[in-house]
Amino acid sequence: MNNKGHLIKSVAPESIAEELEIEAGDRLLQINEKEIKDVFDYHYAVNDEYLVILIQKPDGEEWELEIEKEYEEDLGIEFEEGLMDSYRSCRNNCMFCFIDQMPPGMRETLYFKDDDARLSFLQGNYITLTNMSEEDIDRIIFYKLSPINISIHTTNKELRCRMLHNRFAGEALDKIKRLYDAGITMNGQIVLCKGVNDGEELERSIHDLAAYIPHMQSVSIVPVGITKYRDNLIKLEKFEKEDALNVLGIIHRWQDILYKEYQTRFIHASDEWYITAGLPIPEADSYEGYLQIENGVGMVRSLVDEFKEYYENIKGDNRTKSVTLATGVLAAPILKSLMEEIHIKYPNIRITVYTIINEFFGTDITVAGLLTGQDIMNQLKGKELGDYLILPDVLLRDGENVLLDDITVDDMKNALQTQIRIVQSDGKSLINAVVN
Ligand code: SF4
Repeated sequence: MNNKGHLIKSVAPESIAEELEIEAGDRLLQINEKEIKDVFDYHYAVNDEYLVILIQKPDGEEWELEIEKEYEEDLGIEFEEGLMDSYRSCRNNCMFCFIDQMPPGMRETLYFKDDDARLSFLQGNYITLTNMSEEDIDRIIFYKLSPINISIHTTNKELRCRMLHNRFAGEALDKIKRLYDAGITMNGQIVLCKGVNDGEELERSIHDLAAYIPHMQSVSIVPVGITKYRDNLIKLEKFEKEDALNVLGIIHRWQDILYKEYQTRFIHASDEWYITAGLPIPEADSYEGYLQIENGVGMVRSLVDEFKEYYENIKGDNRTKSVTLATGVLAAPILKSLMEEIHIKYPNIRITVYTIINEFFGTDITVAGLLTGQDIMNQLKGKELGDYLILPDVLLRDGENVLLDDITVDDMKNALQTQIRIVQSDGKSLINAVVN
């Protein structure tokens, strides 16, 4: 038997698919007599109120099923391949690519350089538009796929070619205009490299991108991550405090200009800039709905505000326990100050916050999400960890119990001889993890 169609991984309980006795292991061959190319086609095709779908059972038998349903009601099918097609890899060789700066010997999938518009739509990944044909753009427009997250880096075409090491990277920017004209919602990202696309180049990029307001709804500025594995790569420098102050100066000035003209701040600095500059994190309002929180823009403000809101309604008591938290260099001072607050209402809870230095990638990598199991185990070994150790969930890969270096939570438990609680990065979960 051949492998036509798309293999079904699971069927949601009480879904239309379950009612029709579609099962894991079946294959979807057609919808309304058309083959389905990928997840975009599928989402579009299943919206209709009346469908005829062709399913192939594992023994080769084909079932034609008629479905009447509400418009946009989902069938409840999950496919083995998330995109229902192979993943599209990037055609760039960016000077700041994090994947090129990873040590050898890590899990194969971590080296995959995706640049796939379908992942942008489904998971919020950022794409460079450099591997997309005009037909690909047509499909986004036809299917009205929004938002599309775009890695812009600079609007200077010649500089973009250099940064992405791709001679088509400059002209790829013209596709933004097509998406804008079609009313597709977009978010942009600029990975800032010192002495490359900062300063006047950054001013120019912000100025140019403002022309795409309102369909481009936000642009984030994030500092380049520099690991210790850059031996054969272009030299890049870390942003110091003074640099961060300059970058924030540019961003804040543009925020004021754009707010007056368009009632949106549009351009947003990731949290790292404020922490490096030693400036207070802006208030929630200025993040305008936290559109790029997954990109580290407003994560700290959101955590602190949620913490305070939940904390206000807690009475506290005299329960006695001893708890340890571990996190990266960037978040440690914030967590320490939040833990001091908990201590006021729960004076008998002893809370220790350990800052884990990233020896694996290099000490310039300070975010918790890039910490490895080895660093945590090495740096906490022999320490008094109290009743249990709390770790942030951003350490774990894709909802699995495993860290970047394949060390599992159980490995750490055994090595450190302590219970471990993984906590979501929100204020309420944090308080509960410490107190209860
Ligand atoms: S597009 Fe992304 S994955 Fe590809 S080289 Fe650039 S940074 Fe790396």
